Amino acid sequence: MAATLEEDLTPYTGVDPDSAWRDEVRRLAKERDAVLLAHNYQLPEIQDIADHTGDSLALSRIAAASDASTIIFCGVHFMAETAKILAPEKTVLIPDARAGCSLADSITADQLREWKAEHPGAVVVSYVNTTADVKAETDICCTSSNAVDVVRSIPADQEVLFLPDQFLGAHVKRETGRDNLHIWAGECHVHAGINGPELAERAAANPDADLFIHPECGCATSALYLAGEGIVPSAQVKILSTGDMVTQARATSAKSVLVATEIGMLHQLRRAAPEIEFSAVNDRASCRYMKMITPAALLRALRENKDEVHVDVETAARARGAVQRMIEIGKPGGGE
Ligand code: SF4
Repeated sequence: MAATLEEDLTPYTGVDPDSAWRDEVRRLAKERDAVLLAHNYQLPEIQDIADHTGDSLALSRIAAASDASTIIFCGVHFMAETAKILAPEKTVLIPDARAGCSLADSITADQLREWKAEHPGAVVVSYVNTTADVKAETDICCTSSNAVDVVRSIPADQEVLFLPDQFLGAHVKRETGRDNLHIWAGECHVHAGINGPELAERAAANPDADLFIHPECGCATSALYLAGEGIVPSAQVKILSTGDMVTQARATSAKSVLVATEIGMLHQLRRAAPEIEFSAVNDRASCRYMKMITPAALLRALRENKDEVHVDVETAARARGAVQRMIEIGKPGGGE
């Protein structure tokens, strides 16, 4: 059984464990020439100790640009893989390699090859929540910020295979009005659990609140419907990537905001705009994979130099092309 944080900190008896933990993490990070990156859905103490906090793509770009020789990626496995794809010469560690993603797992490279065989000539657009093997079979990756722009960049008469998230796919189809866009029926169990009726109920109880909605959420369609019907003023409905939520939090004049995404996001939003009352549409929307990166796991990663993330050279080279095309199109930030 993994040691608890308190057990890990036994040598520091007599010292405030939180501060001892922070000091030890900082000391080891310096010693290892490591930069600490934390996704917006990480535990608050992990977000607070990181050198950089953000969405998956922004963190991967920081990883690639960093002078540090080691990247400690506090997020889920596909994110650490993306960092390795963009920075193959660096050592990339994830504090717990079991931190997967139900959305990334909803399609394998074999399944994608079969789907491509059914639609020869189609352009494959994959959301960044995919494994390196799936990215290697992809023409262009996208984030939730630039998914619409990526699909618009493809000639109108060419078929598009969009994967793996059905809710983001539905959003892109609605925005582009494209009939030749085929959508993989994948979903994230956390986002799919944030549903329309719950959103409608919360919006009715908080008529002045802005709604910040991640397009992967099961409620994204409902939010647009509520706005279309005039039940919620359309100016209050904002479909945003997690990175854009932080930007919008600093810009909005609303006094309260309902947030429809994983609840770890609330920590960053409250830090960005402490005067606003942020609350979750569904306060049970917590990703168990993200929460595997505990303070003890981070300490172990630094002490033992693991778990190291590997992507074979050929897969990385093919996947890099798809990721770089994503970076060239539309907004630079985004992702989950
Ligand atoms: S919240 Fe969903 S999409 Fe994000 S890492 Fe967890 S399982 Fe994957």
